[in-house]
Amino acid sequence: MSDQQQQYSFFGAVEKSFDKAAKFTNLDKGLLEQIKQCNAVYRMHFPVKIGDNIEVIKAYRVQHSHHKLPCKGGIRFAMSVNLDEVMALAALMTYKCAIVNVPFAGAKGGITIDPKKYTPYELEKITRRYTSELIKKNFIGPGIDVPAPDYGTGEREMAWIVDTYASMRPGEIDALGCVTGKPVTQGGVRGRREATGLGVFYGIREVCNMPDVMSKLGMTIGVEGKTVIVQGLGNVGYHAAKFFREGGAKVICLAEHDGAIYNADGLNEEDVFQYKKKTGSIKNYPGAKTIATSNEAIELECDILIPAALENVINGENAPRIKAKMIGEAANGPLTPEADDVFAAKGVLVIPDMYLNAGGVTVSYFEWLKNLSHVRYGRMEKRFTENQNRQMLEQIEESTGKKVSEKDRETIIHGPDEADLVYSGLEETMIAATREIMEVWKANPEIPDMRTAAYVVAIKKVGTSYAELGIFP
Ligand code: GLU
Repeated sequence: MSDQQQQYSFFGAVEKSFDKAAKFTNLDKGLLEQIKQCNAVYRMHFPVKIGDNIEVIKAYRVQHSHHKLPCKGGIRFAMSVNLDEVMALAALMTYKCAIVNVPFAGAKGGITIDPKKYTPYELEKITRRYTSELIKKNFIGPGIDVPAPDYGTGEREMAWIVDTYASMRPGEIDALGCVTGKPVTQGGVRGRREATGLGVFYGIREVCNMPDVMSKLGMTIGVEGKTVIVQGLGNVGYHAAKFFREGGAKVICLAEHDGAIYNADGLNEEDVFQYKKKTGSIKNYPGAKTIATSNEAIELECDILIPAALENVINGENAPRIKAKMIGEAANGPLTPEADDVFAAKGVLVIPDMYLNAGGVTVSYFEWLKNLSHVRYGRMEKRFTENQNRQMLEQIEESTGKKVSEKDRETIIHGPDEADLVYSGLEETMIAATREIMEVWKANPEIPDMRTAAYVVAIKKVGTSYAELGIFP
């Protein structure tokens, strides 16, 4: 069956990738089957009064695994939300968390609505009602299942969720940890907003710094000077573009669902974002050439292509026309298994989603830890470290007779605040995960691509957790 047909199953694609990797794990057949299945599926319908009418809203929460607790994964608001999609995304969360050593099991939620059709007040009603449905069925809680933002949701929705949860669970001291991606003023952590895009940058940069990988691809080392196309200018795409531009790459094309813009000298994502805010679209952005469709744009020549919107955008049909040397999956599931085969044969490196976009859940983990510990990162050690650094610097200045400049003094003395610690924890996580996957791949040349290597890492870790639980000795 061609992946072009309507009945494309996203969960089926995840299962296919899983099976491709399972044979490299030597794990028990029954254990592999248990890891693969979605453990709990909650599909709900609830009424919400919109204007004079009652609308019946369809929504989901899927817990793919319980090998660790809580379960973790975002909530998506889109018309395309369906059970197959939520199951696939929940499964990816399990593997994602395992790869970056975040002690959660995978889950995902979704509401089948077009959020643009509702006023903020109506969206709030829908979100709060969804949250109370989750509470009623014990599908949410800091030790049970912890949602987060995804496509179509953000800090605002997370604030509604935590407020609903806290008011229905009075006295629960860890209530703030029932959801992540909250505004900083309501228990969020600094750095969460940009975390996924920044993680994408750290991950790709690490690959670009591997001499053997780059020489195989016929590319120079480092991200500097690389040409980049980003598809999707939502939170993830915007921040990926920002960090690549700041890292010295040229973001030559930004693509959105209604068209794309191109400038060989590079685009500034913030200017483009402001233009879109004013006009409603990135099309006709001055100083760039407008391209009619996103599909055309992603086929343009570039070093790195970053799909950062939705699943199934690159498939067996258009993959042969993609000219990028490297593809970094910032979205979940943007490539189909058929596209993977095309790129493996062409020698294009695909850096897979469930590891590359794990920055979001990694910083969600930091946020959850902050909520459970009830203390802001850096609060205890910032001043202590600064005092130590100052003393050390003064000793060195005294013994050498040399004084450092005011600017250097500030940098040397600076003690870590919350954003510093979050960024550094994220950078370390992404670098370590990249190296671990690449090592597994190198150690077994039969593994056909990086996605399969990532799945091997993930499956083995989940398998070990089951063994630790004594379920599969
Ligand atoms: N929705 C994001 C993802 O797909 C973040 C999940 C989370 O932070 O729990 O990874």
